[in-house]
Amino acid sequence: MNAGLRPLEVALVAAFGRERVRAAAPLRDLCSWGAGGDADLLFTARSAEELLGAARLAREHGIPLTVLGGGANVLVSDRGIRGLVVRNRADRIEPSGEEGFEAESGALLTALAHLASEAGIAGFEFLVGIPGTVGGAVVGNAGTKASWVSGVLESVLLLGPDGIVRREVPVALGFDYRKSRLQSSGETVLSALLRGRRAERSEILRRTAEFLEARRHQPSGPSAGSVFRNPRGDHAGRLIEACGLKGRRVGGAEISRQHANFILNTGGASARDIRSLVEIAKAEVARRAGVALEEEVRYLGEWP
Ligand SMILES: Cc1cc2nc3c(=O)[nH]c(=O)nc-3n(C[C@H](O)[C@H](O)[C@H](O)COP(=O)(O)OP(=O)(O)OC[C@H]3O[C@@H](n4cnc5c(N)ncnc54)[C@H](O)[C@@H]3O)c2cc1C
Repeated sequence: MNAGLRPLEVALVAAFGRERVRAAAPLRDLCSWGAGGDADLLFTARSAEELLGAARLAREHGIPLTVLGGGANVLVSDRGIRGLVVRNRADRIEPSGEEGFEAESGALLTALAHLASEAGIAGFEFLVGIPGTVGGAVVGNAGTKASWVSGVLESVLLLGPDGIVRREVPVALGFDYRKSRLQSSGETVLSALLRGRRAERSEILRRTAEFLEARRHQPSGPSAGSVFRNPRGDHAGRLIEACGLKGRRVGGAEISRQHANFILNTGGASARDIRSLVEIAKAEVARRAGVALEEEVRYLGEWP
């Protein structure tokens, strides 16, 4: 381990206890792709206060911080992630007014969708089949064709790289299709205030069922969902399929035969195998269709 990490490890252990902090911790099982290397240091936060505390300790010690939500949209390098990884299990969701929730950033999207449904609050149904946390969804503006998380967001509590906590409204966050400024700002999402609208329970259940039905034909197996953003007016999956790449394999990774925008870990894939397929798809689509595909998934850790 990097010598500079030891004082941070000692500080985290003093603050949260030995059993909460792990050195050289495998991340593979914490990511939906089931691939990638270790974190130098791993701490699991169980509340927004713990997330804030750990992030501030990392900052005080000059150690880089990576927040991992559900790991459903990331490819962690086989070389792992240097510095501190905080696995975010801060998952409290409290009602806010008649139609809203204040959710800690580690709350699962599915939990939020179910709570809203039970409370007769519409607008969250689209989250029902999206794996991952509120924090990850805010950062990547997760959603479906019709609805994005930015559309139900009222404000976000953020920790800046300067160590200051601020509340920001969506217009300040540069949301676009699967994009926000948070993808490059170094800010940590602590919690989010989300708002829907009152509706009949039957309407909410019907919409929830529709969203679940739309996912029934999604490929099963370890993946990160869609690898690429859809280019304007087209579909990344269609472009990759048109290049004849369905079923293409590198090591244990395979471009899904069902949906070409998914890459599956069919067993023992390395992160390099997966990334090689990403690169093959990008190069072929650029060569044959003249379209530059952009990754929706995020690369974490040290890449050669
Ligand atoms: C089967 C499958 C289906 C999917 N379907 C969809 C879909 O329909 N629509 C869609 O949009 N996505 C989909 N995804 C992708 C994924 O579910 C979303 O991107 C989700 O929002 C990721 O959340 P997460 O908590 O897992 O984020 P992670 O993968 O853990 O992290 C994503 C990025 O956000 C950062 N991050 C996470 N939490 C925080 C935080 N609190 N503060 C700061 N940065 C943070 C991470 O460092 C990383 O850079 C799918 C994935 C799978 C596996």
